[in-house]
Amino acid sequence: MDPIQLLDLTKEELQTLLIEWGEPRYRADQVWRWLYRRFAAVPEEMTDLPKSLRARLATEAHLDPLTPLTTLDSIDGHTRKTLFSLGDGAQVEAVLMRYEKRRTLCISTQAGCAVGCPFCATGQGGFDRNLSVGEILAQVTFYARMLAEKETRVTNIVFMGMGEPLANYAATWAAIRCLNDPAGFGLGARAMTLSTVGLVPGIQRMSHEPERVGLAVSLHAPADDLRDELVPVNRRYPLTELMGACRDYVTATRRRISFEYALMDGVNDSDEQAHQLADLLKGLLAHVNLIPLNPTHDSPYRGSPEARVRAFSAVLEARSVPTTVRLRRGIDIRAGCGQLRARYGKGNG
Ligand code: SAH
Ligand code: SF4
Repeated sequence: MDPIQLLDLTKEELQTLLIEWGEPRYRADQVWRWLYRRFAAVPEEMTDLPKSLRARLATEAHLDPLTPLTTLDSIDGHTRKTLFSLGDGAQVEAVLMRYEKRRTLCISTQAGCAVGCPFCATGQGGFDRNLSVGEILAQVTFYARMLAEKETRVTNIVFMGMGEPLANYAATWAAIRCLNDPAGFGLGARAMTLSTVGLVPGIQRMSHEPERVGLAVSLHAPADDLRDELVPVNRRYPLTELMGACRDYVTATRRRISFEYALMDGVNDSDEQAHQLADLLKGLLAHVNLIPLNPTHDSPYRGSPEARVRAFSAVLEARSVPTTVRLRRGIDIRAGCGQLRARYGKGNG
């Protein structure tokens, strides 16, 4: 029989399991706290459980679906990237960014990605498979354990690592629900942000969820012909459809959407394109996040020069579109946006 992956279970499933094992009802709460408050790495650490239960958990259950393979720190020491093995040969990366007051974790929802945006290292590497709930959560508990040793904690989580979270909707949402549980990890929905390439059915589904996590949409182009090239999924969900779903989302949730726009030299960074972008977002509760494109190996695209980034941003500001330029983080260890790719040694510099 396959071992039970504890991190795959909802609290109710954990309760059912432990009751089947003849344990009292409150045991599930105890184990839940060990998993998501104290980040136990092995059942032996769960010292307030009876020895017999610890022994049974050790033989029949697992709580480590990920094995860390390598960890890299950026030269400035603010960014750390860890490569994990998933046990079946698949690999993913997760990144911790330390800011003055925040510790933001960027996690993966798929090994690889099937969307294939040509400027993104994950897309260039192809698609392996969806992650399970436990594999998503284990990236969080790994870093939370590391931070707890320094008496600090994860303050924000962004679903912006490898993969398209809305293409693995069920597992991603189960992870969000678990992290949001006040009796467990207890991270407020507002401290989590999900970034999507623009899968319309997923955005519609998100607008009905009770957990109001932040939504970021990767736009990158203000018109269909260019977006078809940069974000191939645009052929299936073109801009009118996508923007319609975004408007409905804002109406349903009253939450602002963040639009990500990676500036590529001579491709999508002209003043005219900034005006087109402002037209597209007119009347929408929106915010634009400009990301100077990070370099990847196989991509013909280059990041825009700083003066162009400033000029593009100035047009948006003049058109009253709230805009920020995202700080570059961890570029020296290829931990920046779109640089995550698990195949080491092959074009991964
Ligand atoms: N699949 C999702 C989430 C992961 S990518 C999505 O595409 O939104 C997270 C963000 O990094 C996206 O906005 C993506 O467009 C951006 N990105 C990808 N490659 C990049 C690169 N080379 N430089 C800067 N941003 C990049
Ligand atoms: Fe996939 Fe997002 Fe990269 Fe596009 S940008 S290939 S959707 S991970």
